Amino acid sequence: MTIELRGGLYIVSTPIGNLKDLSARAIEILENVFFIACEDTRVTGKLLFRYNIKTPMKAYHEHSTKRVKDKILSAISEDKAVAIVSDAGTPTISDPGYKLIKLCIKNNYYISAIPGASAAITGLVLSGIPTNRFLFFGFLSSKREKKSNELAGLVNIPTTLIFYESPKRLVGTLQTMIKQLGNRPAAITRELTKKHEQVRRGQLNDLFLYYKSIPPPKGELVLIVGGMEEKIAAVDDNLDQIIITRLKSKSLRDTSIEVSDETGITKKLVYARALALSKPKN
Ligand code: SAM
Repeated sequence: MTIELRGGLYIVSTPIGNLKDLSARAIEILENVFFIACEDTRVTGKLLFRYNIKTPMKAYHEHSTKRVKDKILSAISEDKAVAIVSDAGTPTISDPGYKLIKLCIKNNYYISAIPGASAAITGLVLSGIPTNRFLFFGFLSSKREKKSNELAGLVNIPTTLIFYESPKRLVGTLQTMIKQLGNRPAAITRELTKKHEQVRRGQLNDLFLYYKSIPPPKGELVLIVGGMEEKIAAVDDNLDQIIITRLKSKSLRDTSIEVSDETGITKKLVYARALALSKPKN
């Protein structure tokens, strides 16, 4: 249906896998804008083909030249409606678009967001980890030291943590998380909304051991990790068991050091607990 749109930038969320997850309003906007700025015309082309949308596309990404940005801004300045989409999900969420939005705001142009899928929220709600408060981190650095430092900065955050990660880096990231955050409840949500959607929940340690034992998983994933309070709750339940298992092969001293490193609980507390558990019961 042809409708008259107000001139401005329309930030349109698109599906994260299942092409049916495009809202009726998103379809209407995409059909009626002057052109669609997209990351990859082949990817967006498939979505447009599925919905028989004939609107022209223009490639736009974070490193697009000034010429491309100027084209978009000049169309909007002439009161044209322009949509921006990313390859999948919500534009600007670990995707391009922010700079363009800032420019539109600076120029006092109309902007509107058409909400829809985002892998972060879809993964979070499936994870079984508290959803009341969360911090979305996006991608950690691919450099080992920087990643370690980024995670160290999150150790005391009391809310659920959400990360995007590539499957080939998953095992290394889980290992660094255990080191920097201690063992905590976590979930790997993979291929969301697609045919092979999968959720694996467990402690970071369990997930690390599992993914270390198999080839890198296929597709895309979101990693959700419990906040500091979740860790303490989980550790309270498991601490005795962790200590008892470790004491079977390690000295009291080594057990305290290792369990303290893994859980973040002070060595003094772990030692006291290990001592109590290692005393024979009368
Ligand atoms: N803007 C997108 C959004 O709103 O979710 C995110 C784009 S970011 C470049 C791509 C990352 O999002 C992937 O590496 C993966 O971590 C996550 N992702 C996207 N689609 C996904 C899916 N169907 N299942 C799991 N994770 C997905």
